[in-house]
Amino acid sequence: MAQMDVGLKRELEAKVYAGERLTREDGVALYESDDLAWLGRLAHHKRTELNGDRVMFNVNRHLNLTNVCSASCAYCSFQRKPGEKDAYTMRIDEAVRKAKEMENEQLTELHIVNGLHPTLPWRYYPKVLRELKAALPNVKLKCFTATEVQWFEKISGLPASEILDELMDAGLESLTGGGAEIFDWEVRQHIVDHNCHWEDWSRIHRLAHEKGMKTPATMLYGHIEEPRHRVDHVMRLRELQDETGGFAVFIPLRYQHDFVDSADGKIRNRIQARTTMAAPAESLRTFAVSRLMFDNVPHLKNFWVMHGLSVAQLSLNFGADDLDGSVVEYKITHDADSYGTPTTMHRDDLLNIIWDAGFQPVERNTRYEIVREYDKPTSLAERRSEPQQVWA
Ligand code: SF4
Repeated sequence: MAQMDVGLKRELEAKVYAGERLTREDGVALYESDDLAWLGRLAHHKRTELNGDRVMFNVNRHLNLTNVCSASCAYCSFQRKPGEKDAYTMRIDEAVRKAKEMENEQLTELHIVNGLHPTLPWRYYPKVLRELKAALPNVKLKCFTATEVQWFEKISGLPASEILDELMDAGLESLTGGGAEIFDWEVRQHIVDHNCHWEDWSRIHRLAHEKGMKTPATMLYGHIEEPRHRVDHVMRLRELQDETGGFAVFIPLRYQHDFVDSADGKIRNRIQARTTMAAPAESLRTFAVSRLMFDNVPHLKNFWVMHGLSVAQLSLNFGADDLDGSVVEYKITHDADSYGTPTTMHRDDLLNIIWDAGFQPVERNTRYEIVREYDKPTSLAERRSEPQQVWA
């Protein structure tokens, strides 16, 4: 990594402090900087301007209705083919029972994503939403990637607009941000095995925004892409955000490099021979540059399950202001996880993690409205002699 030209460094700094929009070339230059502390300082400035010393979180549960998928994305350890030993599809009552198990955790959101099941009928999806909403009326339903919505178009013959109307009528609050991975075709053609690319992904999110939804957007980084592809990814989203203003949050997701699938000893990830996994410094760099480049999205989320708790805490000084979530079970990552990340976190754990990092926790709902503000953190000077409360 080259040392950045001092003149360029000052120029970029001046742009950030003046609130000027950064260009594609600026984004690539930021990734090339060898000064991680400097990058963090710039991103922290931007993050503090937007969100002060607050860190948002929500109490949610992830539910995957089926792992049966028609596609075979190269990096995916979650999907199973029909008839495979541990392929599963939940009946609607099973899904409701699983969701109800979390009721006493005062969860505010259910996050549901699934494989592209080849034979489940379209009617199953609004029906499961209706039953979940009836069973848990106070819980917001954040469900389906744009890829799934495009799949629903295919299996139902309906246009996305009607699909979204019906899902919203059944209780859908927001789409999820998945299926984005890396939009640049140079990379995408090697990792994605379905037909939902930038044109359809953006069409479906644009539609959701037109219908009043606030949606998240993700980026899967640290595999075969180069920093310029990450910059391109963010530039496309930034442009769409200029048009709709409908993205509430951006979520960089660290690619999980698994060696052996924990469930059955198989290796499913077809790009693992030519990949490693982003090191913590690379993750922090990605958070910082994302915060600086994606200047019109209000929040930057660290989904701690994919980064580990230490990096999640550090990322709060590199642009992130949102920690998701108090997840009880997350199958997609944990099928690829041999890094000892915990599977369970509760509200108190998250509060302690945020306080320990020196920020004020704020509980939010799916639309990023404030549910509750908690105490400010004790200052670092005051608690220097106290042990850390949560060990990552
Ligand atoms: S990433 Fe999604 S669409 Fe691709 S194979 Fe896995 S479950 Fe299927």
